[in-house]
Amino acid sequence: MAKRNTYTGIMTTAIHAGEMPDPATNASAPPIHMSSTFVTDEPSGFSAHDLTDDSPYTYARWANPTVDMLEHKIAALEGAQACLCTASGMGAASAILFTFLSSGDHLVISDVSYAGVAELVRTTLPRMGVKVTPVDMSDLDAVAQAIRPGTKLVYTETPVNPIGRLTDLAAVSRLAHDAGALVSCDATFASPIGMDCIQLGVDLVMHSTTKYIGGHGDAVGGAVAGRADLIAQMRIEAGIHHGNVLSPFNAWLIARGAATLPLRMRAHQEGASAVATWLEAQPSVTRVIYPGLPSHPQYELAQRQMNNTSGMISFQVGSAETGLSIAQDMIDRLNIIHYAVSLGHHRSLIFWMGSEGMIDTSFQLNDRQAASYRDWAGDGIFRLSVGLEDASDLIADLERVL
Ligand code: PLP
Repeated sequence: MAKRNTYTGIMTTAIHAGEMPDPATNASAPPIHMSSTFVTDEPSGFSAHDLTDDSPYTYARWANPTVDMLEHKIAALEGAQACLCTASGMGAASAILFTFLSSGDHLVISDVSYAGVAELVRTTLPRMGVKVTPVDMSDLDAVAQAIRPGTKLVYTETPVNPIGRLTDLAAVSRLAHDAGALVSCDATFASPIGMDCIQLGVDLVMHSTTKYIGGHGDAVGGAVAGRADLIAQMRIEAGIHHGNVLSPFNAWLIARGAATLPLRMRAHQEGASAVATWLEAQPSVTRVIYPGLPSHPQYELAQRQMNNTSGMISFQVGSAETGLSIAQDMIDRLNIIHYAVSLGHHRSLIFWMGSEGMIDTSFQLNDRQAASYRDWAGDGIFRLSVGLEDASDLIADLERVL
């Protein structure tokens, strides 16, 4: 099994947690164990329920040493007891939803969340008898009103994709726990460096490790960290029974990225602060949303809750027509920034998201919720993931299209 050392420093943790020199060869870098099965030296049970923390490796859908190494690293970065790695970020979200919700249960979820999750909870969950209440998680009175007997899970995401709105995790966790519900947080935008979700009261913190944790745009993956008993439940349901497991090769790539996460997050924050400040001064830019800017409507919460404001900027340029025309210009004329979905990579990425489509299709917002979405996003926003390039080069690239 992977080493369970914990370290005081976050950089040491990112590099060493979960790893040890390979006992077979003394190799300093962790090996990739691609084996799907493991030779056993005594007869054992075949049920997922026979699995314990001390079980030897048996079959890679149950556990694999390379995936185990990454799970220990992410648990250590989150200050959590345990972690489950999943096939993707959507795999992490569905692992939480399908492990902790049953027919008749009630889910409270942010009315704006990653579009894939928003669509899953509005289509699949109701089909399975789960009742869903989407709510603006920045409005604590609305959250309190939405929670009711039968609420089993409060699913948050902060900063929320794509508008950068924040949730007060300590306050929402108190409300949920008073009602006996679990709280999860999709912290993909912030990464484990951006917030101490577990300390703030969150039970399950999830990431698309495709983004900041992997950091290089070459491996899709997901992770959920939290209490050992909750993660053990998820390992049986989501991993062993649903087959929602991470490939060892991707685990290795993601762990190599995770080793430099604290350093990269510092650089993402520095670059994004410079670019966001420049964007705010451009006459063609009508609004910039970045939690590190005093103009963010929840700047005080950002200062209190976030240790690093990350590299994600949203900005508006006026009407949807203007946005679309600038998006086309970006596709044709940007040299450095890639016009592409995804985020958290060393390469900067930008993508236009028109509000009408998001409101009607992904979020299916009522009139009041749609008005609030437009308060943040106007007719549409550019989601800019500031990478690790020099801010001066990124600004020069944006200058040619804005
Ligand atoms: N959560 C957030 C906040 C995301 O931005 C994404 C993807 O963009 C996901 C979850 C889903 O992650 P994946 O694409 O790895 O399935």
